[in-house]
Amino acid sequence: MGKKDRHTPRMAFVTLRDLPGTRVMFWVVDECPYCGERHLHPAGNLRTADPSDRLGEVPAVCDPTRVYELALPPRPKKKAGKTERRRERQGGKRDVVDDDKW
Ligand SMILES: [Zn+2]
Repeated sequence: MGKKDRHTPRMAFVTLRDLPGTRVMFWVVDECPYCGERHLHPAGNLRTADPSDRLGEVPAVCDPTRVYELALPPRPKKKAGKTERRRERQGGKRDVVDDDKW
């Protein structure tokens, strides 16, 4: 393949996960910059591989003709501030906002 596209790869933020009971790790793209889906990229064996070696440009799972750049997400801001989320008084897991009238 001669021609290499010079498109700037999109960033794909990843989280490192491992399979319970194994030493196999995955970089999980929570939201693909192209299709919005979740993709998994094997990051190797915990013992033998450095998962950060797998970061960087990789072909997108959904479209191998494109690449995105696996990158760690920016750290959440830890500044103590006024932005505590206390206003959200969610007692529990209440995703249901049904106002259905039967
Ligand atoms: Zn995708």
